[in-house]
Amino acid sequence: MNQDEQFMSQALREAEKALRAGEVPCGCVVVKEGRIIARGWNQVEKLKDATAHAEMIALTAAEAALGDWRLEGCTVYVTKEPCPMCAGALVHCRPERVVYGMPDPKGGACGGWINLLDSNPPLNHRCPTQGGVLHELCAEQFCSFFREARRAAKERRVERSGLNEEGHEESSAD
Ligand SMILES: [Zn+2]
Repeated sequence: MNQDEQFMSQALREAEKALRAGEVPCGCVVVKEGRIIARGWNQVEKLKDATAHAEMIALTAAEAALGDWRLEGCTVYVTKEPCPMCAGALVHCRPERVVYGMPDPKGGACGGWINLLDSNPPLNHRCPTQGGVLHELCAEQFCSFFREARRAAKERRVERSGLNEEGHEESSAD
């Protein structure tokens, strides 16, 4: 395993926490000089906050750890290609590099759909990115999340139709 893969597997451990909590499994770590200075996992449901993506949480923690909003010399590892909100935040924090796992051709903002990390100008920071690191492991987490979500949705449908039948029986008994 090379260094990028090692840190991505740490981001995967963060994503695993999200998966166990029933959140979309995305995880992120911020690395400076070979050391993890911040971690984050998606907590949108837990915090009831649509901005609580793994990257946003990890970036805020990294800024606190460094005592600076400039993440100079830092590399951000995230299991899925960042969305436009997170890519925008990344540009503001100015890390040296962004490495992601699963590409997102529909909504990704690091080249999948658009590229906010390489649009200088008009944005004031250009950030080299690399995608596809441990891609299959990252994608597998997302697949298992959506498999489980579909199964739960199906169960709810079955339960609802069960209740309707009961209601029908009751009314016919009257
Ligand atoms: Zn995001």
